Amino acid sequence: MRCLSCGASFNIDQKLIVCPICGGLLEIINEFQDINKNSLKGRGVWRYKELIPGNYKKIVSLNEGNTPLINSKNYENLYLKFEGLNPTGSFKDRGMTVAISSAYSLGYKIVVAASTGNTAASASAYSARAGLKTLLFLPKGKVAKGKMFQSILHGAVIVEVDGSFDNAMSRVRKLFNEDKDIYPVNSFNPWRLEGQKTIAYEIYEDIGSPDFVIVPTGNAGNIYAIWKGFKELENLGIIDKMPKMIAVQAEGASPIADFINKNQNEMKFVENPETVATAIRIGKPVNYMKAIKAIKDSKGTALKVSDDEILYAQIYLAREEGIGVEPASASTMAAYKKLLDNGYIDKKDRVVLILTGHALKDPNIMVNTEIHSVSQDNIEILINKLKI
Ligand SMILES: *Cc1c(COP(=O)(O)O)cnc(C)c1O
Ligand SMILES: [Zn+2]
Repeated sequence: MRCLSCGASFNIDQKLIVCPICGGLLEIINEFQDINKNSLKGRGVWRYKELIPGNYKKIVSLNEGNTPLINSKNYENLYLKFEGLNPTGSFKDRGMTVAISSAYSLGYKIVVAASTGNTAASASAYSARAGLKTLLFLPKGKVAKGKMFQSILHGAVIVEVDGSFDNAMSRVRKLFNEDKDIYPVNSFNPWRLEGQKTIAYEIYEDIGSPDFVIVPTGNAGNIYAIWKGFKELENLGIIDKMPKMIAVQAEGASPIADFINKNQNEMKFVENPETVATAIRIGKPVNYMKAIKAIKDSKGTALKVSDDEILYAQIYLAREEGIGVEPASASTMAAYKKLLDNGYIDKKDRVVLILTGHALKDPNIMVNTEIHSVSQDNIEILINKLKI
């Protein structure tokens, strides 16, 4: 394990979450020599257990992963990785199965997370299955209904924090520093990313190494995890070309996109992040150093899209492709269209969009604003219209 801030190295130790010297982010450096193809058994995250370090007394799993890679109907070389089909409806389950298995194996009884919603839902379900308790810090009034419901349903203890996700995250950081009996399952926990990297392995098994992977980026753990998965395949000699990693952020919460595009020396965090895409409404991405590494190493880029573009893309995916995703996930489709328009991506390039979360997570905006039904007195007029 190596610290991204001070460069110190440590032997692989499942107990290590952050650098014991400076508190920086740790990378788990796997030096796999070879992979025994016969070890690839079953489906989902644990199919790749030979590539997931750590000792696990028990694997706490809900059969996460193994999500479909759906070829777009309208764009021949576009593929949609539908992570909304995970057990709690987002890719967070891939990381949570590893983090909760670690917590259980290390003897923890309580896990803690700050969340915009999906980490909360996932942690609540997996720790319920493991018999652990879940403590959540959530930004008050800012968590989508479906996600809040899941956390309550699975029995988490919820603390609502004033301000944004970033305020909730600092509560977790503080607790983590003060109380060593509580295990943090946010994505600064590098073990979670070992589960999320399996997105790359699955894409590879379906279509090989694509030209671009577009990832909605909030705390920025996932873009790094997917890059890491491909990097390990490259180091193993299984692929000879890395996909370019593209981070997409919402206009009101775009510190990484601004850092990349404005050539800033230091990242300028966003104090009051705002966007309809609640899962990426994050102003201080905890994993920004990892995201920058993934983008730069793969020669990718970052961009921002507006809320209108996101909602338009959500409707496109739902009404043209038949795939229901939450707004954060739709940002990838908005980005794809933008990058086709400005020529960064060609129609011939093979592109994968990571559709991170299910539509049912976040029904508020559409139910509240779309005109979605007609009065029962007008049924005949309506049917005549449909027949045209
Ligand atoms: C967590 C999440 C993201 C952002 O992932 P990061 O690893 O924080 O960048 C994007 N979309 C959805 C639906 C999420 O739940
Ligand atoms: Zn350090």
